[in-house]
Amino acid sequence: MTVEQTLAQLVAIDSVSARSNAEIIFYLAARCEAAGFTVKHFPHTDETRVEKTNLVAVAQAEAFATIELALVGHTDTVPYDPTWTEALQLTERDGNLFGRGACDTKAFIAAALTAIDSIDVSKLRKPLALVFTADEEIGCLGAKRLAQARPFTARYAIVGEPTSLQPMRAGKGYCIAEVTVHGREAHSAYPGLGASAIFRAARLIERIENIAQEIRSDRRAGFDPPYTTLNVGVIQGGTAKNIIAGDCRFTLEWRTIPGQEADYVLNLVQEAVADLQKQDPDFVCEIDAARADESFETSAESELVQFLEDTSGKGSGTVAFGTEAPSMIALGAEPVVFGPGDIRVAHRTGEFVPPDQLHDCVRILRQAIERFCL
Ligand SMILES: [Zn+2]
Repeated sequence: MTVEQTLAQLVAIDSVSARSNAEIIFYLAARCEAAGFTVKHFPHTDETRVEKTNLVAVAQAEAFATIELALVGHTDTVPYDPTWTEALQLTERDGNLFGRGACDTKAFIAAALTAIDSIDVSKLRKPLALVFTADEEIGCLGAKRLAQARPFTARYAIVGEPTSLQPMRAGKGYCIAEVTVHGREAHSAYPGLGASAIFRAARLIERIENIAQEIRSDRRAGFDPPYTTLNVGVIQGGTAKNIIAGDCRFTLEWRTIPGQEADYVLNLVQEAVADLQKQDPDFVCEIDAARADESFETSAESELVQFLEDTSGKGSGTVAFGTEAPSMIALGAEPVVFGPGDIRVAHRTGEFVPPDQLHDCVRILRQAIERFCL
């Protein structure tokens, strides 16, 4: 089967994150077993009670726990516009292959399946795994679950994402917190009777802006911009123009450079809150840190980075979007994010992958298997 045929079959299976990924897992398990792999299913139900599965296929079952090279692809896609009638039908146009997931990240999965079809699995001396995860697009949930369960450790991992076949060896973390500042409602004609949550939130946000400025001095080359960034993206508060606001809520988002823990910014914000409380003992605020995805960095000297630089002909770079790489680090691996297609066309109606990149990816993955597992 050609890599294009495999990609067409993968695209034909609707695997948007809201649905169960049972159908695509069934397909992937069958393909891996046909290629001589042993598969293990890791099922769970998500928070909407939908069945989800992570699948791990290993070339040598007896070595399941210690993987040399893992090829990681997420099975879910973002939703598609119902008016995109060819979303589930791989379509060639202007020399490119269009379809939901054609770029992100079924192209990588198709390349991995094609690569394993072309090798003699019985000749592998070190364990190779294909890892298929659920719910990457809604917070890398499947990979995080796998990292927690720790059914295996891995030495190297290629995390499939559209990078136009440039090896990406580092990425910023991604964290969100919901901040609620409390005040005391009163008639606005009598400010002494109340305390404005909005004025209080404004003082805290000014501190946050100062934090954002101060941490710019901590720089990490290779990132754009080369420092941790902060954003207050949404703010809500108060009920009417003549009422002193009782509550004010805002979201704080930050993207950390490698070397800073995910809670680094959170600690600075908490220090600012403690400082404000010294001036205003009634200053009450709750911080709900809803998400903390760590940054990741694999050394430029890593054998996998150097191998992918050599075979792709591209120097390694950094990614600005969240990936499953930190979960692979939790499993012991040196991860590199790599795959065909351009992230800038992913997630949009008419996402596509260039076929030459698809073919190059098959070649590079086959060489990676030979280099690390043979
Ligand atoms: Zn993706």
